[in-house]
Amino acid sequence: MESLIVRVDDIPLEGLELELNVPAADLMELLAEDGEETPVILSPLTGSLKLRTTGKDRLSIKGGFAVTAEIFCDRCLNETPTALSSEVNEVLDLEAPGASANGDEESDSDGSLEVVDGKVNLSGLLGELFWLSWPWHFICKPDCAGLCSRCGANLNEGLCGCVDGCGHS
Ligand SMILES: [Zn+2]
Ligand SMILES: [Zn+2]
Repeated sequence: MESLIVRVDDIPLEGLELELNVPAADLMELLAEDGEETPVILSPLTGSLKLRTTGKDRLSIKGGFAVTAEIFCDRCLNETPTALSSEVNEVLDLEAPGASANGDEESDSDGSLEVVDGKVNLSGLLGELFWLSWPWHFICKPDCAGLCSRCGANLNEGLCGCVDGCGHS
């Protein structure tokens, strides 16, 4: 994504405020590259990241974002539109392509970003941050009735008629 590619030399000393406004379709495309099952994104991802170069070849990233996605309820399997948000506060090493090959972990940074032609691409980072905000255990509502263990009906939509399946009769 073009809007997530930043030239390192363009980041002023006081930092660069990067506005995020990633269309849902672009975000889904980005997430599809991870090989994870692509979630249905319902809104643009919006927010901002403050980029600041620190020390030697390091980039500090602070900010946050919000996005709405459809999430499956663990109990009734219904897709539920859900607002996700995430705060970001990371320091990443800036590295030349292939530089991370030797595995010494002396750095205390959170990770690294590859600098290609003087530019960093933040879309991979954004994908990671998105998954960090993803609720891996999710119930659509506190009193979700779940599915009938006998016929599989969604009991939030009414009783299914099984005598012992839904616990109401
Ligand atoms: Zn549910
Ligand atoms: Zn039933």
